[in-house]
Amino acid sequence: MMPVAETWIRVTPQGLFVEPGDFHIDPTRPVARAVITHGHGDHARPGHDDVLATAETLAIMRARYGDAAGRRLQAVRYGESLTLGGVRVRLAPAGHVLGSAQIVLEWQGTRVVVSGDYKRRRDPTCPAFEPQPCDVFVTEATFGLPVFRHPPDAQEIARLLASVRRNPDRAHLVGVYALGKCQRVIRLLREAGWESPLYLHGALQTLCDVYEHAGVALGPLQPVGAARSDLAGAIVLAPPSALGDRWSRRLPDPLSVAASGWMRIKQRAKQRGVELPLIISDHADWDELLATFSDVGAPEIWVTHGQEDALVHAAAQAGIRARALRLIGFDDEGA
Ligand SMILES: [Zn+2]
Ligand SMILES: [Zn+2]
Repeated sequence: MMPVAETWIRVTPQGLFVEPGDFHIDPTRPVARAVITHGHGDHARPGHDDVLATAETLAIMRARYGDAAGRRLQAVRYGESLTLGGVRVRLAPAGHVLGSAQIVLEWQGTRVVVSGDYKRRRDPTCPAFEPQPCDVFVTEATFGLPVFRHPPDAQEIARLLASVRRNPDRAHLVGVYALGKCQRVIRLLREAGWESPLYLHGALQTLCDVYEHAGVALGPLQPVGAARSDLAGAIVLAPPSALGDRWSRRLPDPLSVAASGWMRIKQRAKQRGVELPLIISDHADWDELLATFSDVGAPEIWVTHGQEDALVHAAAQAGIRARALRLIGFDDEGA
């Protein structure tokens, strides 16, 4: 008989632990051996000894943490298979951000997929999510409520460009998470025909360089500080935290924009003083979550973090065994 997954994958204080392989996935505290799904700070933390991830994720970790990215870094390509302590490990694209991977685990005839964070729609900055048939699918639930249905991203970008045309005297200040959202919004703007320079807050430059180095062309980017001319009519990208602070006062009558799945909640946009909320998310929405469960055909789902309850219920209604792991230390503010 195949071993039930709970007997070999456990929740520990450090996070998800794969016992026969003696490694953690996205541990929240320093460990001896870590397999990392992607570079977001709540999944990729500094201070581990051995770190296994895609080359892109390792580059992101190095850019953020320097030597603290890990003592020994091992890059694995999508589709490449290796064995850690008897557990077969393979990485598959998760479609979330550059380098993001699902971790496909096989041990004694059972296949478990830890998806990290993921989305299903096209993203011009990373390869698309590839469903992996499995016995247990471990999923996030950032937007695990039926109210979260993300519109097409091209439609949201068109709203931004329409606002820029309507307000030629103002700078559009777009709040974007530094890893993933920033580069995706840039690429979407380029695809929509915006060829002028985009202006960057200093905190966004390093990861844009990592994307460019990985072959994701972002077009002309300029630091805001170097812009001598007036930024009226310009599009400026900054971390969400910079939207309301002193930094933004240098811009001409800034119009505050935010790009996030959370912008579905009008109250949230209002609280943050966002004039133009764009619903652009790097996480699966409600429909994508449920479609994914059906695509991977897993009879069992584990929900790691986010809004678990409705999702667990919906899975159960579809005849899937589902449970909430309630992992702590994950925060999807930048969603
Ligand atoms: Zn993430
Ligand atoms: Zn996450």
